[in-house]
Amino acid sequence: MTKCKICGVEINHSEVKGVCQTCLIKPFSITSVCRVDLLMEKGMFKQKDVSKFSDAMMQDLADRIGETTCETRIFWKGLNYYGHELLEDL
Ligand SMILES: [Zn+2]
Repeated sequence: MTKCKICGVEINHSEVKGVCQTCLIKPFSITSVCRVDLLMEKGMFKQKDVSKFSDAMMQDLADRIGETTCETRIFWKGLNYYGHELLEDL
């Protein structure tokens, strides 16, 4: 019986050696967006428009930005670059 190198739980088998299924799929937030962000870039949105963004619209906005980040490969490039940078620091 081996133990997960991250959380220490005993694992029978796993797709990745030494890492349990729970640790493999544990999510970490990359970023978030709030209404104040709409005003951070001067001239991008007018203050009067901020109240038009409902919670559902903000969630939709976050989802679309997330999808775009993946589609433009920014997500994967960042994952590759910063992941290796962190490994080099070990
Ligand atoms: Zn684990």
